[in-house]
Amino acid sequence: MGERDAKLPNLRQVAFGQTAPPHMAVSLAGLRRGRRNVAYNSRQREDARRRVSHEASQIGPPRTARRLAFMFRVILLLTGALAMSFAQETKLRIIAIGAHPDDCDFRFGGTAIKFAKAGHAVKFVSLTNGNAGHHEMGGGMLAMRRHKETQEAARRFGIAEYQVLDNNDGELMPTLEVRKQVIRAIREWRADVVLGPRPNDYHPDHRYTGVVMQDAAYMVQVPNLVSDVPALRKNPIFIYYQDGFQKPSPFRPDVVVAIDDVWEQKVNALDAHTSQMYEWLPWVDGELDQVPKDPAERKKWLSADRTRGMLPDDVKKSIVERYGDPGKAATKHYEAFELCEYGRRPSLQELREMFPK
Ligand SMILES: [Zn+2]
Repeated sequence: MGERDAKLPNLRQVAFGQTAPPHMAVSLAGLRRGRRNVAYNSRQREDARRRVSHEASQIGPPRTARRLAFMFRVILLLTGALAMSFAQETKLRIIAIGAHPDDCDFRFGGTAIKFAKAGHAVKFVSLTNGNAGHHEMGGGMLAMRRHKETQEAARRFGIAEYQVLDNNDGELMPTLEVRKQVIRAIREWRADVVLGPRPNDYHPDHRYTGVVMQDAAYMVQVPNLVSDVPALRKNPIFIYYQDGFQKPSPFRPDVVVAIDDVWEQKVNALDAHTSQMYEWLPWVDGELDQVPKDPAERKKWLSADRTRGMLPDDVKKSIVERYGDPGKAATKHYEAFELCEYGRRPSLQELREMFPK
């Protein structure tokens, strides 16, 4: 509006400035030349009036054009704002939960990279501080070392946050206290999607992380629980990471994400967990002597060590179907996810559209 108002006086100046004051012309001429001249000046005045109206009609179209341009700009601004708010609404808030300060990284790291690259807000949470995950050190020193590693891994994954809760490693229990911690974390992140392990696992910390995630799947909506953090009005979608355990039921790959294109970045982020990738886990597997000393060489070793063999047929089929590309059967690296029965249950189609390709 301001712009149009400012322009109006200029239009008037253009219209009247050139015809110059008809009333002044009459009075000055009248004084000098008498009635005849006054009559002449009346004609002149009439001419001037016509000229004014002609000029006004000539400046009509540009004024309309300016109005249209102005309205066009307003419409552009409004549609831009609408598009921005729509984009913000469709950005997901994702929280991945693991028992240890590298679990989310293994199971969800590649997909997390893709989600984060697409502008979604991704957070990892470790329910324990990892203070038992080493053969030569432990306690607070190890917890501090591992916390540092998580922060560097988060930077390399490109995710927003990596939180480590101060529960003892190897001693996690599905207590009310831990359940409340998980409810709080999900609510504070205002999560649309929650990921965690299935509650069937060789490691009790993994198993109970799965139980606690399930325990939170309804309670995040109940305001009287953990009442200092607002309850979520919309229940998130809960999703399991892939595992190989068969009992009581085998994992079902509802969504498969091919991650060859971000594999190097995933390995680079795993590489930040030095205490695990090159010390503790090789020690557990009895292959500590195979770990190269050179940083570049050991990253290569890590990549090879973490590369699985042939893809199972059902996974291969799911990938080819989802990507609509037979060439994807040659995928080497993937991550797979199963929809949990609790929480919001989208259709498989919605779930697959939600996950990055
Ligand atoms: Zn673990």
